[in-house]
Amino acid sequence: MQHLDVLIVGAGPAGIGMALALQKIPDLKFGLVERGRIGESFRRWPLETRFITPSFYSNPFGLADLNAVNEHSSPAHFAAMEHLSGELYADYLNMLVQVHKLPVVTGCKVLEVNTTAAKEFVLETEQGPLSARYVIWATGEYQFPDLQAFTGADYCVHYAQVATWKDFTAPRYTVIGGYESGVDATVNLIKQGRQVRLLVRKASWDRQSDDPSVALSPYSRERLAQAMQSGQLEVIFGVDVTKVSQQDDGSFLIEAADDRNWQEQHQPILATGFVNGGGAQQIARLWEWDEAGKIMLTEADESTLTPGLFLVGPQVRQEDRIYCFIYKFRQRFAMIAQNLALCMALDSSQLDPEPGVWGPFGNSECCEGCEC
Ligand SMILES: Cc1cc2nc3c(=O)[nH]c(=O)nc-3n(C[C@H](O)[C@H](O)[C@H](O)COP(=O)(O)OP(=O)(O)OC[C@H]3O[C@@H](n4cnc5c(N)ncnc54)[C@H](O)[C@@H]3O)c2cc1C
Repeated sequence: MQHLDVLIVGAGPAGIGMALALQKIPDLKFGLVERGRIGESFRRWPLETRFITPSFYSNPFGLADLNAVNEHSSPAHFAAMEHLSGELYADYLNMLVQVHKLPVVTGCKVLEVNTTAAKEFVLETEQGPLSARYVIWATGEYQFPDLQAFTGADYCVHYAQVATWKDFTAPRYTVIGGYESGVDATVNLIKQGRQVRLLVRKASWDRQSDDPSVALSPYSRERLAQAMQSGQLEVIFGVDVTKVSQQDDGSFLIEAADDRNWQEQHQPILATGFVNGGGAQQIARLWEWDEAGKIMLTEADESTLTPGLFLVGPQVRQEDRIYCFIYKFRQRFAMIAQNLALCMALDSSQLDPEPGVWGPFGNSECCEGCEC
């Protein structure tokens, strides 16, 4: 059985960014396993989906590209594009793996994680067992849609199950959920010439905060404004969907908490998010969960229940801070790597950031009070 100091699980931006940080620790034996391809979640995005956070090659004057996973690369520079598709972003991650010769094994799903009396981890994978002193869990959330958000939610098509909006050929659809993915579904359906009924709890595009995580991003707001002028969009506010059921004639009945209801001929589109903890649910017993269903972590992003197990990515929360976007969760990579180097008495000097390399906003405090 191969033994490593550190094993990362998941080759999305969190896992690849973390691997690039670990590579700066000389003599560290680390590896990364991925169940699909590099950037698998991004390769599964609907064909028409684009990044909402703009990419810009601002690195030379001290502001890292918002979607970069290390200090010097830039998705904008790589793709010559401001709003990358999922496919192009996955290609950017793949480029980093090749250029930096990262030790990534693809097609290797982790099936089970166990701890030993010697305080090590043994991971059962599709390609045989592996052992490691430390495990960094980076399995994201996109591949773990919440299909039980309300009774009958599984009658709907979840945003994460859509390959392309071109497959939606009926004259009209109902979209449930008014945040980023609901608006993205709406905009793309309207582009295909469809009528859309959008059911939302509240308007995430009302100016509630200056924080782009609380309200709809400018990119989506701009696209929604255009969609609203198309004459193809009906937005219904204050809707808390409680049930979807299929009628004898094959149509769908959508019911809300305040007794309003809507009939729809075709499967409603569900844009209400992912399971609590996302991919961390795969090893649920190794985390402590709070009453709100969030994972409890130490200040160093280590499991409060299983020492040696770390979490990176959009599920990381520290008090009011939610690290749900790439430009947020990348701020934790160096801190975790520093701590691991310290534990193993290895040299961490290369992890000290060059002054200003992440720009003036390269600190954790900027995430305070963010909701995603
Ligand atoms: C439509 C959409 C638009 C978005 N736009 C933006 C944006 O503009 N800017 C931004 O910052 N964020 C954006 N996000 C959020 C961003 O995509 C996520 O925060 C990011 O993908 C999380 O990265 P990750 O590496 O944690 O997860 P993922 O990219 O999901 O990577 C996790 C990896 O783990 C693998 N995996 C899972 N389980 C196992 C297992 N058991 N064994 C081995 N491998 C496993 C998966 O195959 C996957 O490759 C957007 C999200 C969506 C859905």
